[in-house]
Amino acid sequence: MGSNLTGAIINADETFLTTLSNKGIYNRALKEYESSIVKNIEIDDNGESVKAEFTDGVNIIMTGSIQNYKCTCPSRTACKHLVTAIIAAREKLRENDNQNQNENENEADIESYITAVHGIKSALANIDESKLSGFALELEKAGKERNLAVIADETPAFMNDLQTLVENLKAKESEGVN
Ligand SMILES: [Zn+2]
Repeated sequence: MGSNLTGAIINADETFLTTLSNKGIYNRALKEYESSIVKNIEIDDNGESVKAEFTDGVNIIMTGSIQNYKCTCPSRTACKHLVTAIIAAREKLRENDNQNQNENENEADIESYITAVHGIKSALANIDESKLSGFALELEKAGKERNLAVIADETPAFMNDLQTLVENLKAKESEGVN
């Protein structure tokens, strides 16, 4: 996705759409979009064509560019279906973009989680805390398997154990000093 067509659609703002048609058609199209007159919107995988189906039975398809469209209504100029279809496709594309962004962010989060527990695991092994180090290993595995349920369930307990260990170590240290 990133073709000329979807690129143009995602950037289609009010100015563009009123220039493409006119203010009246734009306003009507926006209203109709909001009242869910678009029954189905289909954007093919490479973004080269966009199809919209309306509840009144009209169909429109854009291929390669916004200007290259075919609508089944009788209008011979840029019709409200075209504008409505562009708005519907634009909203769908933006929604997909947001979803992808969220997925990327989650992916980055889980990668830093894995890195963190991996580091803690090694540090624990170095001080012979094998039980807790094993716990960290399990969390690292869960991260690699993208097992979010285990991560969410077990991480708080792990953090607790870690906190207890730190407190014990501190206590030992001050005993040593005294
Ligand atoms: Zn039309």
